[in-house]
Amino acid sequence: MTRPVVALISALALACGLLAACSDGVELSEPDPLATSLANGRWVDLTHTLSEDAVFWPTAPEYSHEEAAFGMTEGGYFYSSYNLHLSEHGGTHLDAPIHFAEGRQTADEVPLSSLIGPAAVLDVSQQANADRDYLVTVADIEAWEAAHGELADGTILLIRTGFDRYWPDRQGYLGTVLRGEEGVAGLNFPGIAEEAAHFLVEYRDLAAVGIDTASLDNGPSKDFQAHRILLGANVPGFENVANLGELPAIGAMVIALPTKVAGGSGAPLRIVANIPAARGK
Ligand SMILES: [Zn+2]
Repeated sequence: MTRPVVALISALALACGLLAACSDGVELSEPDPLATSLANGRWVDLTHTLSEDAVFWPTAPEYSHEEAAFGMTEGGYFYSSYNLHLSEHGGTHLDAPIHFAEGRQTADEVPLSSLIGPAAVLDVSQQANADRDYLVTVADIEAWEAAHGELADGTILLIRTGFDRYWPDRQGYLGTVLRGEEGVAGLNFPGIAEEAAHFLVEYRDLAAVGIDTASLDNGPSKDFQAHRILLGANVPGFENVANLGELPAIGAMVIALPTKVAGGSGAPLRIVANIPAARGK
């Protein structure tokens, strides 16, 4: 953890401690347990760096980060500024429910309660190694629950296929380097089966679902059932998530903060996790 983060968390701990003191009459010096846990835990960045190398959907326009100014000004001070142009659905990003469900939440409407919460990491990397188009099944979820307990309300379910290891190589990550419709036809990567998406919205109450591939549905999908079912239930998606191999199956906390785009169907996302010291890994 870097020093500024420690300082920030310490400040948070102090602020929370003070708040607790105001509301509960707790001693001023008693730190908030959550802030203490965050301060002592390990932060993991689950975000791919946004750059010209970042993987975008084959039909998305090219990303650009154009220099508007860079260098010493006439005033004798340095100044730099850039213009960013990108699809909502490239790099690590949020899929807002309205992406596939008319009338559902837009990027700016997704509540913080859908973006911050306890993580459950479902690792299907072995299955995805054997089958690039692997679909996560209800049996995979049940096996996870047999080991770790039922997915609690408000959980952020993160599906680890291991495909982030290919990033940003498009052939490995997407199954194709082609762009446009030809590229869409060549997509091969794992996703979530329709029955599994149904199971999650019918029988569980998740905050959000994330995956370390370009889409909640697998590459060959033509009807995008996982998107339609999950987003249709106002369960947002996080796509192109990174580093899920660094998280324990249970016990980490996720903070996923997308850019608050008015009316957006998605948005660039900074997603991080904190692993309490007691969890290790
Ligand atoms: Zn998307």
